[in-house]
Amino acid sequence: MDDKDRSLLDAVDRFIEREVRPVARELEHADTWPAQIVEKMRAMGLFGCIIEERFGGLGLGAAVYASIIERISAVWMSVAGIINSHLIMAALVQRAGTEAQKARFLPRFASGELRGGLALTEPDCGTDLQAIRTSARREGNHYVVDGTKTWISNGIQGHCVALLVKTDPHAEPRHRGMSVFICEKGQGFEASRKLDKLGYKGIDSAELVFQGYRVPAANLVGEIEGHGLKQVLGGLELGRINVAARGVGIARAALEDAVRYAQTRRTFGKPICEHQAIQIKLADMATRLEASRLLTDAAARAYDRGERCDMEAGMAKLFATEAALDNALEAMRIHGAYGYSKEYDIERYYRDAPLLAIGEGTNELQRIIIARQLVKRNPA
Ligand SMILES: Cc1cc2nc3c(=O)[nH]c(=O)nc-3n(C[C@H](O)[C@H](O)[C@H](O)COP(=O)(O)OP(=O)(O)OC[C@H]3O[C@@H](n4cnc5c(N)ncnc54)[C@H](O)[C@@H]3O)c2cc1C
Repeated sequence: MDDKDRSLLDAVDRFIEREVRPVARELEHADTWPAQIVEKMRAMGLFGCIIEERFGGLGLGAAVYASIIERISAVWMSVAGIINSHLIMAALVQRAGTEAQKARFLPRFASGELRGGLALTEPDCGTDLQAIRTSARREGNHYVVDGTKTWISNGIQGHCVALLVKTDPHAEPRHRGMSVFICEKGQGFEASRKLDKLGYKGIDSAELVFQGYRVPAANLVGEIEGHGLKQVLGGLELGRINVAARGVGIARAALEDAVRYAQTRRTFGKPICEHQAIQIKLADMATRLEASRLLTDAAARAYDRGERCDMEAGMAKLFATEAALDNALEAMRIHGAYGYSKEYDIERYYRDAPLLAIGEGTNELQRIIIARQLVKRNPA
């Protein structure tokens, strides 16, 4: 991490304390999209965090990016989601797009003028992506898209999505018939419904309906059919590092709140941090946090060195997100009734953390990926 990175992280810290912390609780409870925060993030260049500088981005490595995500998530995870989902789409174009596509989209993604996310999940499938039914059939210089996507982050406030479709629904194996398009909103592409959810409020999760939507053939990522699943899965290492960093953020916030509260709340004549039962909780929470941060940082550094790190990113994602769940619950127990109150942030950590175990590959799936890699890297 150089001086430039450190001064960016300081600027992010100042931005979070001034602009996010004072409004997070109110906006989250009202489920209000944080328009002013988004404008400030645009001005800071955060929508271009990992986009190359030649396209107007900040060109950050994964380790610095993860530090930014941890900081934001420790105060309000939804704000991190607004840039994360967008950057997963941008990273896909940066990695798999043609030079013409990069020149056309990346500067607008980097400035935040064109914002969006990744549309994979459908009402009938999430983990088993090869079962998707949304289709795109070629008609001259366009493809015509029909189908429904669901749970798409930034689906309402965003302007576009990277859309996974079947260009050949009969292909065997199924992934050979899958492709990705950059789809800007227009006739035939509608955000039909905002989904109500337990936590992760403020950022919209939407159902998207495509009915005879015409997308230019020039928007087919890489201008090649049949590579869609590979293109999408190629972004998962960075995606998992980013979800792990969110887990570190929540695990840290829960610990910090609990350590503070345990010194001021008194029972039986002394602060509760002097009771051994509470000390054990705090020690376990701090150890989980430290291990999560080390795993996340190790995966991010391996990614920045250009090494294969699917297993490391999977381990970081699995451990840090389970740590977020555990720390949120322990912080609630330590706060007693106040942990259950909407006047404290603990109940939000407790509602936000479970999403991390579901998104970017469920934690059940992470274990399968880790085990497969373990066997592959250690042949008998
Ligand atoms: C708030 C929120 C935001 C989201 N944002 C997005 C987004 O922006 N874009 C997007 O495309 N999707 C998004 N999703 C969807 C998310 O990626 C999926 O929910 C996730 O991939 C799991 O898919 P599913 O819900 O269909 O569960 P399923 O795939 O139906 O899985 C159900 C259960 O079965 C388990 N399971 C499935 N297959 C196996 C297996 N082979 N072995 C063992 N266990 C298995 C799973 O781990 C899970 O426990 C979001 C979801 C939420 C809640």
